Amino acid sequence: MTATPHTDHPSLSALALFLDVDGTLLEIAPTPQGVSVPEALRQRLRALSDGSGGAVALVSGRAIADLDGLFAPLTLPAAGLHGFEYRDGSGEYGRRPLPSAAALERARAAMVELAQRHPRLLVEDKRFALALHFRDAPQLEEPVVAAMLEVAASLGGELELQRGKMVVELRPAGATKGKAVAAFLQAPPFAGRLPIFLGDDLTDEPAFELVNRLGGLSVLVGAPRPSAARCRLEDVSAVRHWLAELEAAPHAAVGRLTAASRGSAATLAPAGPKLRGHG
Ligand SMILES: [Mg+2]
Repeated sequence: MTATPHTDHPSLSALALFLDVDGTLLEIAPTPQGVSVPEALRQRLRALSDGSGGAVALVSGRAIADLDGLFAPLTLPAAGLHGFEYRDGSGEYGRRPLPSAAALERARAAMVELAQRHPRLLVEDKRFALALHFRDAPQLEEPVVAAMLEVAASLGGELELQRGKMVVELRPAGATKGKAVAAFLQAPPFAGRLPIFLGDDLTDEPAFELVNRLGGLSVLVGAPRPSAARCRLEDVSAVRHWLAELEAAPHAAVGRLTAASRGSAATLAPAGPKLRGHG
């Protein structure tokens, strides 16, 4: 099988790199505020961004302001709140139509009431979305999801339920990480490049599907599970190793992803992160 024209010359300037944050670049912490960005990771992302002409974007469930605070002084193109808001390659900020204040208030009230009944639940107000974390009370997942589905159904479609790892969110309807990545790929510096998306959670699936359709590379981070992603890195540490390899030897790093996507296990480099075909 011959390589695609893109991957014949996978210098950084031929790539568009899209990175989820929590569970992909950063270990998931007990609370959303409990994470920090190691300086080495910040420097790696800066080097990859510089080397690729700015084609490295964060695609996260966090708000962009939150991402900027975490990665400061580095600011990258970003999609926040699962694609509801975005900052493109030229630094321009935009967002999708706002949900009504009434819908957000009803969602907030329902979550606060649940959290008062179950103090181990944590409500996170992301301004245009609300998250209810149950990391400290995983046994509450089923009733929490059922309650939030009921709330979402009562809001006339303005907010929709997004499930994640130990969290359920009510977020503006219609935004997905897939649409966010598609929007980035419409304009410089991302347009015309080979898209690579790394993510770990259910909210990353639309982005996996999109890059698959475009002939790009979709990478699930974490243990095997049903996913549209075509290859897999074991954990956050493997992601960081792969990013280091990408900076040092883009051809080899992309080649290993491409081979893993095609189901060729023979390409595993003993010294590199575990990279597996997936699905
Ligand atoms: Mg994640």
